Amino acid sequence: METENPQLVNTEQLLLATVQQSEQEIKFLRSQNISLTEQLDAKITQGEQLAQANHRLQTEIIDRQQTETALRLLLERLLSEKSDLEIILDTTTSHSDTIEALLYDKALSLAREVTIDGLTQISNRRAFDQRLEIEWQRAARENSSLSLLLCDVDFFKRYNDRYGHPTGDDCLRSIAKAIESCIRRPADLAARYGGEEFAVILPNTLKEGATLIAEKICLAIANLNIPHESSFVRDRVSVSIGISTTLPERGVHPRSLIESADKGLYLAKNQGRDRAVYSS
Ligand code: GH3
Ligand code: MG
Ligand code: MG
Repeated sequence: METENPQLVNTEQLLLATVQQSEQEIKFLRSQNISLTEQLDAKITQGEQLAQANHRLQTEIIDRQQTETALRLLLERLLSEKSDLEIILDTTTSHSDTIEALLYDKALSLAREVTIDGLTQISNRRAFDQRLEIEWQRAARENSSLSLLLCDVDFFKRYNDRYGHPTGDDCLRSIAKAIESCIRRPADLAARYGGEEFAVILPNTLKEGATLIAEKICLAIANLNIPHESSFVRDRVSVSIGISTTLPERGVHPRSLIESADKGLYLAKNQGRDRAVYSS
């Protein structure tokens, strides 16, 4: 006798039950006067809406997964940067003294670069302008005199032509040093005014004192004994100096003091060079 397949029996029973259920549903709908087509349409629309909702959900899930991955990567990066920052902070803290010293040195060298002449290593024109303004105001306040010297190397073009520009540079360095060695007070300032010209600010100094310092500078440069065979004044390097002294007044520009010293320098050149001449 052929044994019945239990799985087939189950499927048949299931189908039968479904058909019976559908028949009952149809009967019920008919008894309620409900249109079968409308009901079917409604079921189809419902199905479509469900499919759309399902699609939206799937898209949202994918979006969320992508956002999650991006956030995880960001977190990993932040963690690694945090540990880098901690290392930097540790190093900075444990070496703070050295770093502070380095910064201080850097600030000093920057300040130097701004105010020091690269060739001669004395104050530059910028430092001169600033200091003259300050000393002018101070002298006006204290009603004290202010003197200025303008020094210019004699026949320096001929010196360069005869000995070469690099030797000319060496000569300017020696002259700068010699001029600086002649000033003593902390408020005095020697600067490279430009090219082969130097300026000296002498606060609280009268005409006589300024003349003494100018003569001291002429002597110090003569004592350098730098040969200058092409000079028309002497066989050594020399300078001419213009001297001016004034009682500064508020509202008057320090330019007037420079102009007087320049006039003195012009006179010194005209009177034969290698000398200091005062001009009021
Ligand atoms: P004077 O006695 O009338 O002042 O004559 P001088 O030849 O000194 O004056 P002049 O203005 O004709 O020439 C100045 C020279 O200074 C020309 C220029 O080449 C030189 N000079 C200016 N700056 C520098 C510098 O930095 N290095 C060198 N080696 N020479 C310079
Ligand atoms: Mg000159
Ligand atoms: Mg000159």
